[in-house]
Amino acid sequence: HADQGSSKISSLSADSHKGLNRRFIIDKKMLTALDHNNLQVFYQPQLDIATDKVQVYEALVRWEDEELGSINPDELIPIAEENGLIHAIGAFVIEEAANLAMELMKNDQDISISVNTSVREFGGSSQMKEKLMGILKETKCPPEKIQLEITEKFAFQAEQEQSIIHQMKVLKDTGIQFILDDFGTGYASFRYMQHLPISKVKIDKVFVNSLLTMSKTKQLVEGMILFGKSMGFYVIAEGVETKEQFDLLKEMGVDAVQGYYIGAPMKRDEVF
Ligand code: C2E
Ligand code: CA
Ligand code: CA
Repeated sequence: HADQGSSKISSLSADSHKGLNRRFIIDKKMLTALDHNNLQVFYQPQLDIATDKVQVYEALVRWEDEELGSINPDELIPIAEENGLIHAIGAFVIEEAANLAMELMKNDQDISISVNTSVREFGGSSQMKEKLMGILKETKCPPEKIQLEITEKFAFQAEQEQSIIHQMKVLKDTGIQFILDDFGTGYASFRYMQHLPISKVKIDKVFVNSLLTMSKTKQLVEGMILFGKSMGFYVIAEGVETKEQFDLLKEMGVDAVQGYYIGAPMKRDEVF
């Protein structure tokens, strides 16, 4: 077996070998990083158009490592999903978010924090429902201050669906809101919109990115906004980088925008 493995690796290009090695180190160091508080959460503002106020910040996890440099969530999360640490990372981010929401409340700032979730976190022995309720109880954070983003990039298994919907409904009844993230990029938009108790949809940045450069994107985005609103959802657009994109999206009727034009993800202390 060892021979087979090494011959397989030696036939890979140097780059992918390096990639595998990096992946291996990330995997190996992740638990220690989590234990030593080396993971950080950044917060990106979301502007509500009707009130012209930032009412929500999205929590985004980051990891700076001396040896590995910065490890972005796109790299970190898939590995955490595989090694099972996604549950602990998810709990860490929710706890940070709940603590921040409480601090902001004490500061008379009515702000909710939106947390990305992985479908994995709804399965296994430590379910999202218990985990989240536990953290809210512990931090005394009101459920309305936390929103959960569910990505539609990855479909979940049919046998998981009932349990996920059940957990979402219980959480929704306490006041937690759900957002369908990456709207338009997955295979399940319509199905999720029909079956999951979501109240907001977030149009993915790939569409915003080509809004002013690809002729058909404008119609597509306009359709997505109209469709989302006709279903009664609050529609958010992410990845807004320019005034032109902002103005057009506003004219098209989005409810909220997020992106470098409004503000980049920032450290906790900069939120105040
Ligand atoms: P996402 O939820 O779609 O988050 C938006 C990503 O776009 C973030 O990347 C953000 O930094 C970036 N971004 C924000 N504004 C702009 C902009 O104007 N232009 C461009 N080009 N990009 C912008 P980030 O932080 O690298 O996160 C990547 C993905 O990783 C997120 O995508 C989310 O799906 C996932 N993720 C992040 N934090 C967590 C987490 O705590 N748990 C889980 N399960 N997933 C997470
Ligand atoms: Ca998100
Ligand atoms: Ca996205």
